[in-house]
Amino acid sequence: MSEFNNIFDAHAHYDDDKFSEDREDVIKAIEENGVCKVVNASVDIDTSKTVLRFTDKYPIFYGAVGIHPENIDNLPENYLEILANLYSENKKIVAIGEVGLDYYWDIPREPQHKIFGEQLALVNDLDAPVVIHDREAHRDTLDFLRKYRPKKALLHCYSGSAEFLKEILPLGCFISLGGTVTFKNARHSVDVAQQVPLDRLLLETDAPYLSPVPFRGKRNQSDYIIYAAKKIAELRGVTAQEILDITCENAHRFYGI
Ligand SMILES: [Zn+2]
Repeated sequence: MSEFNNIFDAHAHYDDDKFSEDREDVIKAIEENGVCKVVNASVDIDTSKTVLRFTDKYPIFYGAVGIHPENIDNLPENYLEILANLYSENKKIVAIGEVGLDYYWDIPREPQHKIFGEQLALVNDLDAPVVIHDREAHRDTLDFLRKYRPKKALLHCYSGSAEFLKEILPLGCFISLGGTVTFKNARHSVDVAQQVPLDRLLLETDAPYLSPVPFRGKRNQSDYIIYAAKKIAELRGVTAQEILDITCENAHRFYGI
């Protein structure tokens, strides 16, 4: 048993192959260590279906369904309809995501914009929360948010500056932070962790990626969120459990759970 509870992992990928050997054990362990809920994000149609299976199988699991910018090739013509049905017909599918823009990898931008725009329009049709991937594409992501104005948007693994927060907060956006706040070179996310209003903050792992110090470089899992919580708590002069409590409440509110 851990000394912490109310750990809500707002974004993870337990469908990843890195969990294929021991997924059941890890999920049992994180639950014992105080994790109350996990929202498993999807990156394409196949993972969207896998995530739905996980939500049936594991009581603490909820899901988001969507097409990640790295996976926009060869989409079925009716992909929006498939996502819409997965969202509408399943109570534990609670968001569209992750969707967005990735300018880090060499992916043609025009098709990224098309698919992102189509999914944001779907988000508005469904009145759904949306989980956004923005990698080195802050300006264009902001333009999309201003154009489509989704009611509830989460900039997951937030990598913008504290300055950029001032642009997105008036749009009602939430952000989530994770392991990167514990990194030595994390000036950016330390500023953000200090300045973000606590009612707009969620915590996430992006597991299996982005493990916090002292597990940096190893496989991540949801109970490791406590290291980010401890760091943010230290920066803000509160306890780690207080950070876990408020981010847990925010995550319930954001996802409508
Ligand atoms: Zn992710």
